[in-house]
Amino acid sequence: MPRGFLSPHLRVRRWAHAQAKRATRLIGHYPFFAALSGTLVATVMAILTYAALYEGRAEELRHAAENSRNLVQLISNDIARNMEIYDLSLQAVVMAAQQPQTWLMPEALRQRVLFDRATAASNLGGAYVIDATGHVRASQNALGRAGAAGLSFADRDYFIAQQRDPQAGLYFSQPYRSRLRGGIPSIGLSRRINAPDGSFAGVALLGVRLDYFQQLLERIDVGQGGRLFIMMHDRTLLASKPASLRGAGANYGDLPNYAIFSHHDAGSFTAHSALDGVERIFTYAHVKNAPLIVVVAPAVADVLAGWRRRSYIALVMTTVFGGAWVAVSWVLAFALRDKVVAESELLRLAVTDPLTGLANRRALDRRLVEEWQHAVRDGTPLSVLFFDIDHFKLFNDTYGHSAGDEVLTFTAGRIAAGSRRATDLAARFGGEEFAVVLPGTALEAATRIAEKIRQRIESANLTLNGTHHGCVTVSVGCASCNPPVGGSGAKLLAEADRLLYEAKDAGRNQVRSQQWTDEGAEPVVDSEAGTRGRDAPAS
Ligand code: GH3
Ligand code: MG
Ligand code: MG
Repeated sequence: MPRGFLSPHLRVRRWAHAQAKRATRLIGHYPFFAALSGTLVATVMAILTYAALYEGRAEELRHAAENSRNLVQLISNDIARNMEIYDLSLQAVVMAAQQPQTWLMPEALRQRVLFDRATAASNLGGAYVIDATGHVRASQNALGRAGAAGLSFADRDYFIAQQRDPQAGLYFSQPYRSRLRGGIPSIGLSRRINAPDGSFAGVALLGVRLDYFQQLLERIDVGQGGRLFIMMHDRTLLASKPASLRGAGANYGDLPNYAIFSHHDAGSFTAHSALDGVERIFTYAHVKNAPLIVVVAPAVADVLAGWRRRSYIALVMTTVFGGAWVAVSWVLAFALRDKVVAESELLRLAVTDPLTGLANRRALDRRLVEEWQHAVRDGTPLSVLFFDIDHFKLFNDTYGHSAGDEVLTFTAGRIAAGSRRATDLAARFGGEEFAVVLPGTALEAATRIAEKIRQRIESANLTLNGTHHGCVTVSVGCASCNPPVGGSGAKLLAEADRLLYEAKDAGRNQVRSQQWTDEGAEPVVDSEAGTRGRDAPAS
């Protein structure tokens, strides 16, 4: 393999490794980023779970409505088919009854001509021919005719409708209690029989027991709170499961939900029952060629029972595990933050002088290297100040080390206050010596800063008997340069140190400053650049 060639697999691994390192560094710097990410992930997971559950609920309801639609179709198809057969039977009876010869035949033959094609299903209450006066003229069942002797049916709606309207066609009556069959609840299907001159000659009647409708419903299970109905267009109830409060034959036209059934041939809607307040999905369809409506209405609570159980478990799991995830994220974040704080404190202590709070020697050395590189790269000047407290040994010997420490702290404070730029660094070099790094600062400005600090320390007038000034003073060496590539910050500092000793030699309490031009070059001492404290004689 040629050098420098990386397989895609290796490249991906390296990339992943780099990303992982970046993420670790990011989390190391911002511990709460991890906690917020954990919280965000848990929240998104919870939202997705809730959304999936909500979608599952809608799906259950859709599924239930579809099931109901199928059931309604099955029931209404069954009724439509039976009603069609009943109508064909009635038409056969009408055709035979309208033939005058039929009535001239012997009774046995007439029975066959009239009713042979009439259906005899068990849920039928028999077929009849009723004359124009409302009396039974012929009955499918011979007993029926005998029982009807003397009875008039001229008051029944199936009779009156045909009597009044020659075009009535197939008529579905209101439910009634059969007078011939011991009060069995039934509806009558009737067709008009015309005399040869077209006048009303009676009706052909087929009684249908309401049991037939009830049996259709009994086979179907729509759950504990579900309801099934078969009703007429005027919302007269023919059958219901479970049995309705008002009973079969009662009218429900006053209930608003039931009024909706008239709007379309078929449909579905969810509503609360006006009778028991239960929310149900009502699915209905009108029966073809019959004034009947089939309704299937499972309770929403039954439909969603399974979904509720599953959702409850999913919600508990999501909440418990999501909550635990969030809690662990935050506990880890706090632990990480404490660690980061402790580490940064350790780092700070590692570069801080404990007595004065200034940067220590290590930090000074490091910063000198960095600033030197910056200055070389940017072509900017760099200056270094070197401070030494004058006659400090005498101070210690006179006032004790503790007071000496206070003077050190005070001096450090003044030095730090005098070098205020964010890039300036004030450090304790050691003992009673301090250094200040001044990036981007040329000789003149650096000398001004050094002089200002010197003056402020002197003007504090901290008594030090036995010296020329009678107070604490400092001597300062100030070296400045435009860094050559070959030099170093340490050499610049050494130059400042050398200048400091010149200041000492010149009588202390003064600043000696000089432009340092090149490594190894003979420094040109510019005595005018040096400044001196008040009344400081050369020593
Ligand atoms: P000069 O003017 O020539 O600088 O004289 P000096 O007495 O300041 O110089 P010398 O180097 O002889 O004395 C430095 C003294 O600083 C010696 C030591 O007692 C004192 N010193 C060094 N570190 C500390 C410190 O941390 N606390 C205290 N109180 N004194 C210190
Ligand atoms: Mg010293
Ligand atoms: Mg000293």
